[in-house]
Amino acid sequence: MSDTKANNDAHLNLYEMATAQFERAADAIKLDPAIRAILTEPKSEISFNFPVRMDDGRIRMFKGYRIQHNNILGPYKGGIRYHHDVDIHEVKALAAWMTWKTSLAGLPFGGAKGGVTCRPGELSRTEMERLTRRFTHALGNNIGTEYDIPAPDVGTNSQIMDWMMDTHVNTVSILDRTRGKGVVTGKSLACGGSKGREKATGQGVCHIIEAWAKESGRSVKGLKIAVQGFGNVGYWTCKIIAEMGATVVAVMDHTGAVANPAGIDVAGLKAWMDANKKLPGFAGAPEVSADAFWSADCDVMVPAAIENQITGRTAPMIKAKVVVEGANGPTTTAGDANLASRGIPVVPDILANSGGVIVSFFEWLQNRASEYWELDEVDARLKRQILEAWSNVSRTAKERNIDLRTAAYAVALLRIAEAYRARGVFP
Ligand code: GLU
Repeated sequence: MSDTKANNDAHLNLYEMATAQFERAADAIKLDPAIRAILTEPKSEISFNFPVRMDDGRIRMFKGYRIQHNNILGPYKGGIRYHHDVDIHEVKALAAWMTWKTSLAGLPFGGAKGGVTCRPGELSRTEMERLTRRFTHALGNNIGTEYDIPAPDVGTNSQIMDWMMDTHVNTVSILDRTRGKGVVTGKSLACGGSKGREKATGQGVCHIIEAWAKESGRSVKGLKIAVQGFGNVGYWTCKIIAEMGATVVAVMDHTGAVANPAGIDVAGLKAWMDANKKLPGFAGAPEVSADAFWSADCDVMVPAAIENQITGRTAPMIKAKVVVEGANGPTTTAGDANLASRGIPVVPDILANSGGVIVSFFEWLQNRASEYWELDEVDARLKRQILEAWSNVSRTAKERNIDLRTAAYAVALLRIAEAYRARGVFP
């Protein structure tokens, strides 16, 4: 089987996995069949092939997507991924997860996701800029401050968002330019971004770890944490959880894994990573195998990289007392089943990593009101909002005797179902 074919199959399964998660919860809450049918497929699936001039003068074609899953609760919302594995099935799954995530977090947003199939590490800064601007231009009226609002995801950051915003405002009427700044969130502070947005997803993961610890009679101090991924979510999770008194014992990304049972110096690892672009070799933590990472002696396992990581093969190795999903879709159906059979709860992605989109909402509000909130205000509001989602999920899981993932979907679906019930279906 070719790599592309294998990847395509894995992503087809990813969408099936997302659908299966949805259906389990829809059964649990006896969701109205009409609403169920509406939510099974995205409202629109947009794909583009667009040319980009490379630095050597040649033109290369790229493929980009924007999947708008649902907007009953408000404008479509969700990140843009730059990764070589991006395809339609993956973006469809990610878009559906955004619908559940924004609903669960109580935000006035729907769900969407976009992406460009590319290798960001192999593109120069100027190529990235041209690719981003051309993609944004191709998106045209399919995005907008009150219609569909992209944000960073794997492979994108505030610089990409700044270019997207700048391209968008340069293509709308001059009267819409100020409002047009809110077309994307996750911008840099200089371009109207929010304080606290960059760390927000990791910060939210840490609030969830603390809430789980409290509920299970533990303290964050001294908890041993293993984190897969050392990008935005993984790094901030490591940094913040260590500041809260936990010990980061193992970190793994696509370059390799490192571990130190006595604790990894997170700032040191970040400095090493920035200089060397890989984890192995860091003096403060010896390199270990991927299997050694999965079987690390820890209390909390945080997959914060990409999907399909905790599988029928890797799940049985996990010794943690809880899995907290910083990534989207990191646990497969077989992985979930194994963890459940061993009594290891999984705090699902749509709850655990919702800190990012929650602060995206704050950025959008600040842009609309031309306001700048202080960091302590952003932090306090994030904490309140994500902990409320946590208690809704935790309570629902107990009341209905279902796992946390199904409970999270149930809370999200009930809010969406209520909006459909009240509004009806047009005409
Ligand atoms: N890409 C992030 C996610 O998966 C953030 C989305 C957003 O802020 O709109 O939740």
